[in-house]
Amino acid sequence: MNVRRVSIVLLMAAALVPGCFCPIPASAQSTKVVSPVAPRREQVEAVIKEAYEKYKNDTNGKNADYIPYLAKVDSKLFGIAIVTTDNQVVTVGDVTYSFSIQSISKVYSMALAMEEQGPAKVLEKIGSEPTGRPFNSPNAVVDMSTHSGNPFVNAGAIATVSLISGSTADEKWNKILDFYSKAAGEKLVLIDEVYKSEAATNTGNKALSYLLAKYDRIYADPFESVDVYTKQCSVGVNATQLARMGATLANNGVNPATGERVIKAEDIPHILSTMMEAGLYDGSGTWAWNVGLPAKSGVGGGIVAIAPGKGAIAVFAPPLDEAGNSVKAQEVIRYVADKLNYNIFSPSSVGFK
Ligand code: GLN
Repeated sequence: MNVRRVSIVLLMAAALVPGCFCPIPASAQSTKVVSPVAPRREQVEAVIKEAYEKYKNDTNGKNADYIPYLAKVDSKLFGIAIVTTDNQVVTVGDVTYSFSIQSISKVYSMALAMEEQGPAKVLEKIGSEPTGRPFNSPNAVVDMSTHSGNPFVNAGAIATVSLISGSTADEKWNKILDFYSKAAGEKLVLIDEVYKSEAATNTGNKALSYLLAKYDRIYADPFESVDVYTKQCSVGVNATQLARMGATLANNGVNPATGERVIKAEDIPHILSTMMEAGLYDGSGTWAWNVGLPAKSGVGGGIVAIAPGKGAIAVFAPPLDEAGNSVKAQEVIRYVADKLNYNIFSPSSVGFK
C-alpha cells in the first residue's frame, strides 16, 4: 500500500470513530458558517433596492437647523447599508458621504463607560428610563428621579461622557474617537465645521450640564464634558461605516470585519435594551410597536438598527420628523425589517412558523 492509500484508509477509519479528530475535507473548509435565521444575500439586495426606490422621492421632514451646519446639508442625500454578522456588505445610494454621527455616538460612549466602569455603575450613575420628552428637555432633568434619565438623551449623554476616565479632556476625547473607530473598523475623524457650528450654539446643552451639577449627577467639569460631548457628536461616518458599527453590536461585540472584540458580550443586552426604550426619544414607543428593532437616531439624519445575531442596517437621509428622527430612515428600516423578518418581538424572526 502506498502512502497516499494509507492516509485515505486512515481518514476513512477516523471518520467512523465518534469523537475522533477528523481532518476537515478541503471542500468543507471553504463553507462559511452562516446564521440559520439570517436572510440570503440576494434577498437583502433585492429588499434594500425596493426600499430605496419606494422612498427616494419622499420629501417629508426637514433638516435640523438649530445646528447651522446641518441646515445646509443636501436634503436629497439618501443611502442605505446593511452589514451582516458574517461581514457581508450590501449598499445602495449615497453610502460614502460622511455625515455627523450626532446622537448615535451616545451608544458607543455608553459602551465605553461600561467597559471602564461595568454596567451596574452606569445604571446607578446615569439610569435607563425613557423620559417621554424631547432629547434636550431640561424638564426631564428636573422631574426624573435619576435626573440624567438615560444615556441617550442629551443630559444623560453628557453625564456619560463625564464618567469616562482621562486626566485631560483631550485624553477622554482621543479615547472616545479610538473606541468608535474600532467599532467602525476604520479610522474615523472629526468634521471640524460641524464641531465649530455646534460649539457656537450649544447653550442649551451647557444649561443641562449645570442642571445636572445641581443634582450631583455629573462626574467631571460640566462645560468640559459638554465640549467632549460636542466633539463626539461631530464625528463623521458614512452609512457603511455606521452599519458596521451596528453590526459590531449585532455580532455580540466583535467587529465582523476586523474580528476584534470591541465591546464585552455581557454589555450588549444593556445597550440594545436602552436603544429599544430610548433610541428614538419620544418616538421610541411607536418605533418598538412598528419595527421591533433596537435603534438609534441622530439629528445628522442617520439611524442605525440592530437585528441581534444577524446584522445591522444604517440609513442616512437628513430630513427629520418632530422628534428629531430621519423620516426616510424610519420608513426604510420599517420596510426592510418587515420584509426580512427582523422584528425581535416576532417569534418567526428566530424560525418559528
Ligand atoms: N449634538 C446634538 C445635540 O446635542 C445631538 C442631538 C441628536 O442627535 N438628537 O443636540
